[in-house]
Amino acid sequence: MAEPIVYCAVCTKPLRTRHEHEVAVCSSCGPAYRAGAKAALAPLRKLVDEQAEDEGLWFIGQTAPEAYLQQALRRLHAAIEGEP
Ligand SMILES: [Zn+2]
Repeated sequence: MAEPIVYCAVCTKPLRTRHEHEVAVCSSCGPAYRAGAKAALAPLRKLVDEQAEDEGLWFIGQTAPEAYLQQALRRLHAAIEGEP
């Protein structure tokens, strides 16, 4: 059975290479798409940087809900900053 045809998320041309499938855009649209994604992330990175400086957010959690909230916030920051 043939692989289903997958189309570029930007221009809707069929994707050809393994790399194009991994990033979901064709090689023609790739650079502009990455630049757009980086620009879209800029406000989130700014917010993360501001929160990182806010000592009120990074207290030592005394209760389970506080610790859970801290863990969730750290995970969100790591995802936005592109860390594993
Ligand atoms: Zn494309």
